[in-house]
Amino acid sequence: MKLALVGIGKIALDQHVPALAASPDWELAATVSRNGRVDGVEHWTDLAAMLDARPDIRVVSLCLPPVPRFDAAMQVLEAGRFVMLEKPPGTTLGECHDLQDTAERLGLSIFATWHSREAAMVAPAKAWLADKIIKRGHITWREDVRKWHPGQDWVFEPGGMGVFDPGINALSILTEILPMAVRLTGAELEYPANRQTPIAARLQFSQAISADFDWRQEGPQTWSIEIETDQGTLALHDGGARLEIDGTAATLADTALAGEYPRLYRRMADLVRAGRSDMDLRPMTLVADAFLLGARQITHPFHF
Ligand code: NAP
Repeated sequence: MKLALVGIGKIALDQHVPALAASPDWELAATVSRNGRVDGVEHWTDLAAMLDARPDIRVVSLCLPPVPRFDAAMQVLEAGRFVMLEKPPGTTLGECHDLQDTAERLGLSIFATWHSREAAMVAPAKAWLADKIIKRGHITWREDVRKWHPGQDWVFEPGGMGVFDPGINALSILTEILPMAVRLTGAELEYPANRQTPIAARLQFSQAISADFDWRQEGPQTWSIEIETDQGTLALHDGGARLEIDGTAATLADTALAGEYPRLYRRMADLVRAGRSDMDLRPMTLVADAFLLGARQITHPFHF
């Protein structure tokens, strides 16, 4: 199937282009970006012009930052094409619901991707937790914004989500692996004095689960989720790549298709072929609730 990639920046080049090149399902037929390019691929700077000129491209994958993504997604759907969204699926829940309703009305597939859910040990973690009683849990998601978002000022602009840009990945895993619904009950958000979005957040959830998100972590980076149950403790490390049960490493039985983005593109191919959509907004709801409920603290100014 022919696909166009929109917003050729960091994640498009790091992950989407290699995943598409290796996929038996997809041909990268065009890119749309003001400055970014992919060697050897037809290039457009205007989305409407590409949609007009290439009716044979039925699927569009959006790698734009969240703020410009909604208008682009609407344009794609109104042109009768299927759409795949990088995370987060919108800047607001209202945008997400609007896209979902529009796709449904037009009979088009929409896929709100959560790449961290495709990490190797997330499915085994979900299977292990399925029959356990959750006692408590803690998420530590600490990384260096200068390393992962070099110079990307949009992360600190309204709609950029701040530390929830990586933190929502942890929440996408949490909502996937828990055997019950989870609800935000409290939040403290730290805003740099010169920025519009938080650089750190401490969150409390139902089931005695807490989270510590911080974008000021230099040196080793930490992306871990620990869940204590009635039958032992589960720990996911390295963003879901490693799983330990009571301190013993678990191994994977099935390594058929490795990699978060190859799995996302296989799922998109399945959705398009089946004429179905996948738009799970639970991670986005937890982030929205943190902004609704969060106490605000002002901290040191941040400069890249
Ligand atoms: P990015 O490199 O800053 O942006 C992608 C491209 O979008 C830009 O290079 C730019 O290309 C285009 N663009 C169009 N309108 C823009 C605007 N108003 N502001 C900035 N760029 C605009 O971002 P990214 O890191 O790839 O992230 C894109 C999305 O992927 C985000 O939602 C992020 O959460 C998600 N993501 C990122 C990572 C990561 O490691 N960075 C990992 C997983 C997911 P042109 O100038 O050529 O138009």
